[in-house]
Amino acid sequence: MIVVMEQGSTEEQLQQVIDKLVSLDFTIHRSTGVIHTVLGGVGPREVDPEEFLVMPGVRECHRVVAPYKLASRPFRAEGTVVRFGDVEVGGTAVTLMAGPCCVESELQIRESAGIAAQAGARFLRASAFKPRTSPYSFQGLGEQGLRLLRAAADEHKLLVVSEISDHTQIATMEKYVDLLQVGARSMQNFTLLRELGRASRPVLLKRGLAATVEELLMSAEYILSGGNYNVILCERGIRSFASATRETMDIAAVPAVKKLSHLPILADPSHGTGRRDKVAPMARAAVAAGADGLLIEVHPDPDHALSDGPQSLYAGQLMELVGQLRLIAQAIGRTL
Ligand code: PEP
Ligand code: MN
Repeated sequence: MIVVMEQGSTEEQLQQVIDKLVSLDFTIHRSTGVIHTVLGGVGPREVDPEEFLVMPGVRECHRVVAPYKLASRPFRAEGTVVRFGDVEVGGTAVTLMAGPCCVESELQIRESAGIAAQAGARFLRASAFKPRTSPYSFQGLGEQGLRLLRAAADEHKLLVVSEISDHTQIATMEKYVDLLQVGARSMQNFTLLRELGRASRPVLLKRGLAATVEELLMSAEYILSGGNYNVILCERGIRSFASATRETMDIAAVPAVKKLSHLPILADPSHGTGRRDKVAPMARAAVAAGADGLLIEVHPDPDHALSDGPQSLYAGQLMELVGQLRLIAQAIGRTL
C-alpha cells in the first residue's frame, strides 16, 4: 500500500496514517520527497484504499499490485538519487565507474586508478573477493586487495566499488568500500541481501545471468525492506542462445526498469558482451537508452590481466569512448 500525503499535510495527520497502518499489521517505510511524503506499507492483507483516502492530509492511496513494493516506481515517483558526497547516481549526470576486473598488484591498481580518473570516472571498480566459475581461477587478494584499492582510489579522489560475495565480509568491506557490489552470481543470495538491508553502505545489485527484471526487483526488495534504501541496479547481460557475445546485453531492461522502479540503473557492457570491441557500442546504446551510469572494465595491460582481459578496454579506448558518451549524454539532457 502506498499512501501519498498532501503537500503541507501535518505531522499529526501523518501519524494518524501511520497508526492506522500499524493497526493493520503493516510495516512502514517512509520516503520524504521534495514535495510529498510517501508512506509505503507492507502488510499481510488487502485493504481498501478508500479507508485511507478519506483521512485528512491524504492525497493518494494505491494498492501496489507488483510483488515488489518498496522498489516500485510509485514509492518514489520522482526517482531515487543515491548520494556519495558530491557524487550522485540517479541524478542528471551519467556516472562512470571504471577499473580492472580485480585487484592484482599495487602497481596494476594504481595505474588503473590513474586511467579511470583521467577518463572522468567517479568510481574505481575492482574486486578483491572474486567468485569465479572455476575454483582453479584467481580468487582475488582479499583484504589486502581492498587496502590497495582504497589507497589507489584515494590518490585520485575516486570512490570505490567492489564486490561482496558473502555476508561475513560486510564489516571488512565497509572499512574500504563506498559501494558494495552484489555480483550476478549472488543476486539471489538471500542471506546476503537481507544482511545488506542493514549495511551502512549503498548497494550495487547486478542482474543475475538468468534473472528476469521482476526477479531483479524482488532481490532489491530484500535490501530495501531491511531499511537500506540506497540501492543501484545494474544490467550486465543475460544468458541466451546467441553466441556472438559472451552474454546478451539486454539494453531494453534499462527503460523497463525505469518505468517499473524508482531505483537508478547502470549498464555493464563489459560483462554484457565479454568482448572488448563490443563494449563501446553497447556503452553508447546504454547511455542513449537512459542508463544512469556505466560500469566498465579497463586495464593497464589487458593482454596479461588475471581475469576478464578479453573484455577489458585499453586506456586509450576508454578515453575515446568517454568523448562519444559526453555527446550522447548532452543530446538527452544529461551530463557526463
Ligand atoms: C564483475 O563486475 O567483475 C563481475 C564479476 O560481474 P558479474 O557479477 O556481473 O559477472
Ligand atoms: Mn570482471
